[in-house]
Amino acid sequence: MASEVLEETKKTIISRLPERVKVAKVEFEGPEVVIYTKNPEIITENGDLIRNLAKDLRKRIIIRSDKTVLLEPEKTIEKVHEIVPEDAQISDISFDDVTCEVIIEALKPGLVIGKYGVTSREIVKQTGWAPKILRTPPIKSEIIGRIRNTVKNSSKERKKFLQNLGQKIHTGSKYENDWARLTSMGGFKEVGRSCSLLQTPNSKVLLDCGVNVAANEDKNSFPFLNVPEFNIQDLDAVVISHAHLDHCGFVPYLYHYGYEGPVYCTTATRDLMTLLQLDHIDIAQREDNPLPFNTKHVQKCIKHTICLDYGEVTDISSDIRLTLHNAGHILGSAMCHMHIGDGSHNLVYTGDFKYERSRLLEPATTRFPRAETVVMESTYGGRDDVHPSRNSAEKEMMKTIYKTLKRGGKVLVPVFAVGRAQELMIVLEEYMHHGMIEEVPIYIDGMIWEATAIHTARPEYLSKDLRDQIFHMGRNPFVSDSFIKVTNTNQRKDIVEGEPCIILSTSGMLTGGNSVEYFKCLCEDERNTLIFVGYQSEGSLGKRIQKGYKEIPLEHNNKTRVFNVKMEINTIHGFSGHSNRRQLMDYVKRLSPRPDKIIVCHGDPYKTVDLASSIHRSYKMETKTPLNLECTRIQ
Ligand code: ZN
Repeated sequence: MASEVLEETKKTIISRLPERVKVAKVEFEGPEVVIYTKNPEIITENGDLIRNLAKDLRKRIIIRSDKTVLLEPEKTIEKVHEIVPEDAQISDISFDDVTCEVIIEALKPGLVIGKYGVTSREIVKQTGWAPKILRTPPIKSEIIGRIRNTVKNSSKERKKFLQNLGQKIHTGSKYENDWARLTSMGGFKEVGRSCSLLQTPNSKVLLDCGVNVAANEDKNSFPFLNVPEFNIQDLDAVVISHAHLDHCGFVPYLYHYGYEGPVYCTTATRDLMTLLQLDHIDIAQREDNPLPFNTKHVQKCIKHTICLDYGEVTDISSDIRLTLHNAGHILGSAMCHMHIGDGSHNLVYTGDFKYERSRLLEPATTRFPRAETVVMESTYGGRDDVHPSRNSAEKEMMKTIYKTLKRGGKVLVPVFAVGRAQELMIVLEEYMHHGMIEEVPIYIDGMIWEATAIHTARPEYLSKDLRDQIFHMGRNPFVSDSFIKVTNTNQRKDIVEGEPCIILSTSGMLTGGNSVEYFKCLCEDERNTLIFVGYQSEGSLGKRIQKGYKEIPLEHNNKTRVFNVKMEINTIHGFSGHSNRRQLMDYVKRLSPRPDKIIVCHGDPYKTVDLASSIHRSYKMETKTPLNLECTRIQ
């Protein structure tokens, strides 16, 4: 069946291209159609041709050169340097013989592409190699280096995987039975281990596959993958909304137990997801509580990940088309739009989302081509979940910092490495830049630095304001001199004994990590301040401090010592990456088109139910609040 579809596609392509174009081969590689040709320059010069062809075929098209027309690598390197302006600051050029791509890493990739793609087309014309252009992160990122190497070194293996996948996706089978259903496998009437199984007559797709890191028992940590309707081998695809572990932490497990299929997500999600998965394994090993998978399976996940940009329509199975849209929650976070069958039913899975502009990101998308069912989160869906505005949160933060620095104190902000930390960095940099707080060093400890490096490598996901600053004003707040990376214990000792400063450190709930070490050194001096900006879960050290405990026994130099908390303790709400109650309600109201059904997930039971009944009452929409293990027919 698939080969017939391929033949048909090839025929259409040849008939639509000018006769001068010599098509050597047409192949399916995952969701894409790849055309190999001896004269790629003719096609690339005529951009509309491919755009229209892709539109008519309703498939994504890639043009590659036939091997016979490729210039030798050394000569190609020379040519690339001749064609690309020096200002692009090329840092590396390498070759992928399997895909016939020249991989160009540059600090300013826009200059390698050129206006309307003119420079990259010139590269194809003069060398035959199709340029794959990557951004050199302005802050060096180990994770991105590792991912790029893995992808480069597994090129052959990856091509085979994509070809097999292509056969499965493009079967040309017709949609016969009109049904679709969603099984709740984790993260329903709870927060953590988000996972749903979308089933149609032809496909089985997992939407997120997370872990609950706060659960104290294994049986509550992982999604219910042991339900009879789920079989790893039958799974067609995994779609990941964003990089937080409660949405992607269990993906390596799938690869450990025989999954060979793709993971779809944005590029930023792949990078941050890898960082957090590796850290999760590392912490589990250190705490002698090993996970049912290891770094090998994270590596396998990288090799099987297919990155999609926002708005890119992609076939992920024979009867599901996926499009990711901005969710405003963390870098690369996405709402997943699924066009099912002939399109008579469309499902939007929101993942976590923020319906408010933040320093870092644009607010979540409300417009979809169609959306009959929406599965939405309700983390702050309770009627009491009112947060102060971002603006007043920032002002309160600055007031507290100003006071602390003035009395010669130090400010400690325990913070989660991805998202909140970068949001705070932008705020602090801005206030300092405009002289609104004293210029003191801002120490960045733990994984925050690496997560920030990933943010600098993927500026295309940032808010318009930040992109304008970075691209048009040449001012990247992340690389400001105010930020100092902390790498070792001696440096930490100097910081706590030194001058007034601001410290951002993980973990955000003082459940381990260096934030606890800083706390021990700073808590007994009343000039210092601790600021909480994120959720503190019951039982965490953060929660106890927040509740006002003044005598806290902690392990110190292999002994237990009671610490007398004298530092100022402050909690500032309003920096959350989630929508508050009003924003959740507004979001549903603004959804266009208006959905028929809302399924509410990702929240404490009473918040989920409270939000669902308010939506039903206010907007007369059908709502559902399934428990884990329930199956909901959506069509
Ligand atoms: Zn999240």
